[in-house]
Formats: sequence, C-alpha cells, structure tokens
Amino acid sequence: MSPGTYLRLRREATGLSLRELAYQFFTPPLDLAEVEQLLVNAEADDAPLDAGSLHRVNLFVPLDIEIYASLLAELPTRSVCRRCACSWFDPCQDSFGPCAWADAAATLCTRCARIEATAEKQKRPVA
Ligand SMILES: [Zn+2]
Repeated sequence: MSPGTYLRLRREATGLSLRELAYQFFTPPLDLAEVEQLLVNAEADDAPLDAGSLHRVNLFVPLDIEIYASLLAELPTRSVCRRCACSWFDPCQDSFGPCAWADAAATLCTRCARIEATAEKQKRPVA
C-alpha cells in the first residue's frame, strides 16, 4: 500500500470528502483550494504531507502516523486492513466496539468483513 492510498483509505473510512477535510483543516491565511491541492497531492503520492499537516489531518482522520512514516520510507509496516487501512493502534469503532482482525493473515478488519458480508448478501438473488 502506498502512503497516499493509506491516507485516502483512512479519510474515506471517516466519510469525509477531500473538500470536507480541506474545509476542516484550513485556517486563514491558508487558501482552501491550496489546502485541498495539498491533500490531493498527498493522496496521489505526488508530495507527502509534512509533519505539521499530517498532525492537522490526524485531528479529523484517525491515523497511525508511524505507519504513514514507514510507508513513506518504504519500510515494513504493522498490518493494515486492505479495505479501510485501520491498524492495531488505530482500530475502527462501531456499535460492536473496536475492530479486530477477521483473518489470520491480518489483512481485513472485522468491521470491513461485516460490510463485505452484507454487500455479498445483497448481491445474491432472492430465492
Ligand atoms: Zn477495515
């Protein structure tokens, strides 16, 4: 997973659009369009977020900053959910509580496994 994909999946897991996150994030004298472009570039792996921007994003998007740093440095990382990029120190929270790993290889969290199972059930024709 690339650092930009990690950021995008974590942002999408919160339900925030890029514009909505930029709006949360920007403070004058920063320009809203500039902030949105900064986020677009980071998610496209064109320009990583600096530490200050990363910490500001983390106010609105739960992240494991160590994982982002490892991905940027192309170092091995802790396990990350392939669907929402949550991780051991940054688990999803839903009505069932914090998520856990749904598979032995730690590639999918229990919240995403429930979402996938529901989507699969809805695809099946009604008998
Ligand atoms: Zn997940």
